[in-house]
Amino acid sequence: MSDVGSETNPLRVAIVGAGPAGFYTAERLFKEKNSHITVDMYDRLPTPFGLVRNGVAPDHQKIKSVTKVFDRLANKPQFRFFGNVELGTDITVEDLRQHYHQIVYTTGAQTDRSLDIPGIDLKNSHPATEFVAWYNGHPDFRDYEFDLSQESVAVIGIGNVAVDVARILCRTREELMETDIADYALEQLSQSNVKEVYMLGRRGPAQAAFTPPEAKELGELKGADTIVLPEEAELDPLSQASLADADRGTMRNIEIIKELSERELTGKPKQLTIRFLVSPTELIGNDAGEVVAMKLVKNELYQTESGTMRPRPTENFEEIPVGLVFRSIGYRGVPIPDVPFHERWGVILNEKGRVLNAVSNEPVLGEYTAGWIKRGPSGVIGTNKPDAAETAECMLADLAAGKVLSPAHPELDAATKLVQEKKPNYVSYEDWLKLNELETAAGEAQGRPRIKFTKVVDMLAALGKQ
Ligand code: NAP
Repeated sequence: MSDVGSETNPLRVAIVGAGPAGFYTAERLFKEKNSHITVDMYDRLPTPFGLVRNGVAPDHQKIKSVTKVFDRLANKPQFRFFGNVELGTDITVEDLRQHYHQIVYTTGAQTDRSLDIPGIDLKNSHPATEFVAWYNGHPDFRDYEFDLSQESVAVIGIGNVAVDVARILCRTREELMETDIADYALEQLSQSNVKEVYMLGRRGPAQAAFTPPEAKELGELKGADTIVLPEEAELDPLSQASLADADRGTMRNIEIIKELSERELTGKPKQLTIRFLVSPTELIGNDAGEVVAMKLVKNELYQTESGTMRPRPTENFEEIPVGLVFRSIGYRGVPIPDVPFHERWGVILNEKGRVLNAVSNEPVLGEYTAGWIKRGPSGVIGTNKPDAAETAECMLADLAAGKVLSPAHPELDAATKLVQEKKPNYVSYEDWLKLNELETAAGEAQGRPRIKFTKVVDMLAALGKQ
């Protein structure tokens, strides 16, 4: 047999996870002119695009247009999609090792970081990741229940996910109608009783994790006045002193927060209050085990030896009445059976995208990773492009050095047969394009970008694949 990467023996790559990191890895591999490379992309859902479909806020449609780039990649003859096929359930890593020269894990960060305070497990206290997946119509979360009859909601954290959650809670029905939010979420949010939303930052305005466009948008909500307490918009002396080294984003955030703190209330139906230098210390429940209030401690900042500003509690406590709590303090990766995992960091053990053996710390032959499961849950969609390129370049270097797996069945047809046997109702990219057409046509009829399928059975039925 000729060398791997030749026309007659192309490099066979399996990418597991059809989000941006997976597509950007394929994009970089397809740019390689000297080797023949074919990619099979797997996803546990019938739909591609990962967090672009199930995480990006539905009122941020422009961000979702990145899928056009992914469509163009998927249109290449060297690319195939096997949706509705779950690694660990339908197929195993060993199956992939028998069919591909290289395997790339781009499964993202599928759960949330935990917050260890008393009462966190009370009824009506949820990870924001679940709420986000629910309103975006993720099939695994569509039946979750969130008590939107509550008037007062707290969102813990002030990253961009917290901003998304707070904004969606404050949107009017008319605003939501312009989005592709799941139809059940549109109905429930339109009828919600929510009047007061708090976003809680444990540090100050100069350390806010949200980005300026997202912060600015919070001040432009049709149905909610956005409030910052003037005393919390003021920088503490340590933050003030650090401004000389601050980047443009931080300076802009500070300006936006100051401007919000100077606003008068205009009598909009909802109020969104962004708090700084406060940490929840306890959720207080009633006899039915439901959250009724949150205890907060006022923080002060101190500087670590590395120069980072950290929060520490003072003696000042307060209590705010809240009936619904979302903790939005970061996503976390989930281990894949048979793949080395760094428990504390919540990522696949890797160096520049090469998966490492947990004992020897040496690269595992033929296995790679990219995206949030490689580096942790940080950055915007575009951040995955250089990240995936780094991984793809390691893959190409290893190909050049002859360091690839020797699968027993590298032929294209062998992988098709494997999937047909293990998951006969898998979904191809062509199938997805049909679903996409049905969704956008249903949306058009209601003047919305799309109406999503939110049940796998409905997707399969629409494709005649039950
Ligand atoms: P994030 O940006 O890391 O923000 C996490 C927030 O949780 C921070 O405010 C953090 O405060 C806070 N936090 C962490 N531990 C806490 C604790 N124990 N108690 C209280 N607060 C705590 O994470 P994210 O919001 O989940 O976003 C993930 C990534 O996706 C980010 O890179 C984000 O920019 C990106 N994203 C982008 C968009 C967009 O572009 N529109 C939308 C959504 C997400 P500290 O800063 O003090 O740690």
